[in-house]
Amino acid sequence: MTTSAELFATAKTLIPGGVNSPVRACKSVGCDPLFIARAAGSKLFTVDGDELVDFVMSWGPMLLGHAHPGVTEAARAAMLDGASYGAPCPAEVAMAQAVVDAVPGIEMVRMVNSGTEATMSALRLARGVTGKDAVIKFEGCYHGHGDAFLAAAGSGVATFGIPGTPGVPEGTVRHTLTVPYNDLDGVAALFAAHDDIAAIIVEPVAGNMGLVLPKPGFLQGLRDLATKHGALLIFDEVITGFRLAYGGAQSVFGIDPDLTCLGKIIGGGFPVGAYGGKRRFMERISPEGDIYQAGTLSGNPVAMAAGLATLAALAQADYAGLAARTESFASTLAGILADKGLPVVRNRIASIFTLFFTESPVTDFATAKTADSARYARFYAHMRGRGVNLAPSGFECAFTSFAHTDADLEKTLDAARAFAG
Ligand SMILES: *Cc1c(COP(=O)(O)O)cnc(C)c1O
Repeated sequence: MTTSAELFATAKTLIPGGVNSPVRACKSVGCDPLFIARAAGSKLFTVDGDELVDFVMSWGPMLLGHAHPGVTEAARAAMLDGASYGAPCPAEVAMAQAVVDAVPGIEMVRMVNSGTEATMSALRLARGVTGKDAVIKFEGCYHGHGDAFLAAAGSGVATFGIPGTPGVPEGTVRHTLTVPYNDLDGVAALFAAHDDIAAIIVEPVAGNMGLVLPKPGFLQGLRDLATKHGALLIFDEVITGFRLAYGGAQSVFGIDPDLTCLGKIIGGGFPVGAYGGKRRFMERISPEGDIYQAGTLSGNPVAMAAGLATLAALAQADYAGLAARTESFASTLAGILADKGLPVVRNRIASIFTLFFTESPVTDFATAKTADSARYARFYAHMRGRGVNLAPSGFECAFTSFAHTDADLEKTLDAARAFAG
């Protein structure tokens, strides 16, 4: 048997940091990663022979649970007919129809291979149709690793972002204007100071600084400001799409964005993203229009089959029931920690929640950062030692799924009861 420790040691000599995406290395919680042999339902099974109740769920996609039989069968059947054609296939049309039917703001859609590609492409489209260059993004929101979105969080209102990583040209991030989440006045001030704003991009419910909900009126305020100033409103629903509700956050909050980015859930675990929106904008995409965007593997038949099977199952799913179970679970979990005298703030919507170890309400990145990371690291390690896989960072979400059982949730609560703080 090769252990996680042995695999990680070898991986570090071959792959930067030993991982293909940074947070997986578990650095911020001071642990080494577990290597997963297989997953089923709500469970991960490690190469070390351990079984964990999973609340990461591949960072959101596995809303139906791991290795869902319908999704697995659909992908297997599609694979027998070839993995990729580089030519159109029927499943792409079915997928486009399913997305257009589900998401109110999407009249046309283009499939890509990741959430990162979706947001990069949507921003290019917004810049192309408006003829403007700047984009407003919110501190603590994540839109994938495209250059334009890596402006340092923490930059003040109306100041230009600085590159958050070496390798991003100053000139690129100069067009990225950052403002705190939920700060509508800050957005208005940016529009007053800049006449070259192509788009506002926002996670309608923020899920990448831990879970942070939009204040009442925030999203409608963004809609109104974008319309008033001739900018496009881009909803990054890569997490919220098909998770908050079948129609995404825009159906829950009743907001009509110009463009919407999807990812995670729509691939059923395969690498898929999509961006779509108003027909008059989407018609500008090549080859119908003049704005270029392409992808060798985009819309590949195996991913489309898995995604379609996922959407078909979700169309019948009891979202309200899962939300109620998640609320009861998250509030019990928070109560267990609070009874130990620990400060806990609980943010939750639908099947997503974050417990922040802090006193103050968490409404933006600055308040999220008041949470005690050292305590979260201890909590993570404690829970992992008792067979519960939480996100390896306090600034991430916990995701439940339709596969989580009462026994899974009880096991998790029992593990938390034994946490010393
Ligand atoms: C995960 C995520 C992305 C990036 O998606 P990838 O598939 O990792 O490229 C973009 N936006 C949001 C809101 C995300 O959560």
